Amino acid sequence: MQNTITQQGCLYVCGTPIGNLEDISLRALKILRQVDLVAAEDTRHTRKLLNHYDIKVELISYHEHNRYERGRELVGRITDGLQVALVSDAGMPGISDPGHDLIAAVLKAGLAVIPIPGPTAAVTALVVSGLKTDRFAFTGFLPRKRNERLAEIERLKSYPYTMIFYEAPHRLKATLKDMHEVLGNRNASVARELTKLYEENLRMPLQSLREHFENNEPRGEITLIVEGAGEGSLSYAPADIDLDELLQQLLAGGLSKSEAAREAASRTGLPRRELYKRML
Ligand code: SAM
Repeated sequence: MQNTITQQGCLYVCGTPIGNLEDISLRALKILRQVDLVAAEDTRHTRKLLNHYDIKVELISYHEHNRYERGRELVGRITDGLQVALVSDAGMPGISDPGHDLIAAVLKAGLAVIPIPGPTAAVTALVVSGLKTDRFAFTGFLPRKRNERLAEIERLKSYPYTMIFYEAPHRLKATLKDMHEVLGNRNASVARELTKLYEENLRMPLQSLREHFENNEPRGEITLIVEGAGEGSLSYAPADIDLDELLQQLLAGGLSKSEAAREAASRTGLPRRELYKRML
């Protein structure tokens, strides 16, 4: 039943699972039960989630192709006092889906937007990649056309921090190839089907990822994490090697700094430049 016009209208931006239906907060369930209307990217998809939790609420579609007219309609209904929850097919609305437009329109109309945080594939994949997390860029989907994709990767080549990409399975091999050719053999991670039955995290350099997916056709939902330029990440260092001790031994053995860096790189698989910087 709808609330009366006396209540304050607002838009709840509501995080939902990225696979495992249990990854939803108690607060999100409470809000989904209490709102007048849920605006969903794909109503059939969201209905499954709501049925799982026995939530009965009116659903309305809000997606890429109706976002302008539906956005105006939703702003009108929130202005009239309705409480609306915005959800996407997976994760946080507004991250690589049309949610942002509605959020901006509601704010522009001077109405309240309230976050109900939940998982997002980008951050979930990042934290288990083993690559640096202190600074990172979310880059979303790369362009589909090869020349545009290459130009974008080229633009990111000097970006010094970890990068997060979303990718469709049928484009993964081409993207890994382009990245390997432009960025070199950087450490990376492919997070596939996070939180689902066939979850897989492949943490290896771009070349090995290319080889892996030449023999294993990519399937499912994919988030790709790639280390930033120059810095190199020490995350894949074998746990039992003391890097400083190794470098000191090599220097004491008569190698120059650059020779020691090269030798340590070949023994540990770590980027030579990172090892060289460590000696300075
Ligand atoms: N709003 C969502 C979020 O917060 O993560 C992302 C929406 S975007 C349209 C969908 C893309 O997110 C997929 O193509 C995939 O790249 C990534 N993704 C979503 N679920 C995933 C999962 N379970 N495992 C890995 N990547 C996932």
